[in-house]
Amino acid sequence: MDRLSALTRKRERLFGVLAKIPVLVLLFLGMSSCSDSETVLVPTDNFVSNFYTNTRSLTILVGYEEGASPFVKYNTFDAWDVCKQNITDLLDTRGINLKVPVGIEEMINLGALEQNNYTRENLASFAQGIQKNDNATEDKSIVVLFLNGYYIKDGMPKQKILGINLDGTPVIAVFKPVIKTSSNSAAEQALIEQSTIVHEIGHALGLVNNGVPVTSAHQDANHGAHCINPKCVMFWQNSGTKIQQFVQPFLLSGKVQLFGNQCKSEIKAK
Ligand SMILES: [Zn+2]
Ligand SMILES: [Zn+2]
Repeated sequence: MDRLSALTRKRERLFGVLAKIPVLVLLFLGMSSCSDSETVLVPTDNFVSNFYTNTRSLTILVGYEEGASPFVKYNTFDAWDVCKQNITDLLDTRGINLKVPVGIEEMINLGALEQNNYTRENLASFAQGIQKNDNATEDKSIVVLFLNGYYIKDGMPKQKILGINLDGTPVIAVFKPVIKTSSNSAAEQALIEQSTIVHEIGHALGLVNNGVPVTSAHQDANHGAHCINPKCVMFWQNSGTKIQQFVQPFLLSGKVQLFGNQCKSEIKAK
């Protein structure tokens, strides 16, 4: 083999490997850098590609660690209505039956887990224990885990990551100690938690350019799979430094509209 073709082969191999590494979408709180992703191994299935072909029902399955249970109320409102309203709004006319829990008795208590912080592999494995569907057929589910610890990235627990979606999968995790330090007000924490869940479900359902192609120029490519609209839940800082500010207008209202029009029309067009 001559030197040039050896080099070309090497380059092709490298690109082949790079193409198989999807982005893990992360939420950051209190970080000023624009880094919001990391590379991980390719998942075995791709949730988004199946989702828009045959889905009849979508169930949000919630599992929580002892001491890290999700909020079920903010002020006088049911907290999980925020998730229900916004995902219904996003999926709009698709005729998908969305099931979201309301009370804690509809969620799974995982007990006290042995470890304090969690890797991607830990999260995938907990979710597997809760997942009821193989997600290839018409009935699908997204698993949302609430953990009493931090996400481990690059071997270190990250104390500012509110939540993540394991890219390409219907697995979401919320890190409760980060929610608890995000505000002094319980109502605000509850809305920050719901906003985090909606943002991560948005990624799991393909936003922005994360499995669903963009139909207008609203991807903030500098910040990965996020939206340029500061009033949209998919805006990168609305999942981090600006989340408290973002949820303010909704605190006293039972109507919490989190997605901007561009994100919604993209899902409609899919
Ligand atoms: Zn994000
Ligand atoms: Zn948007």
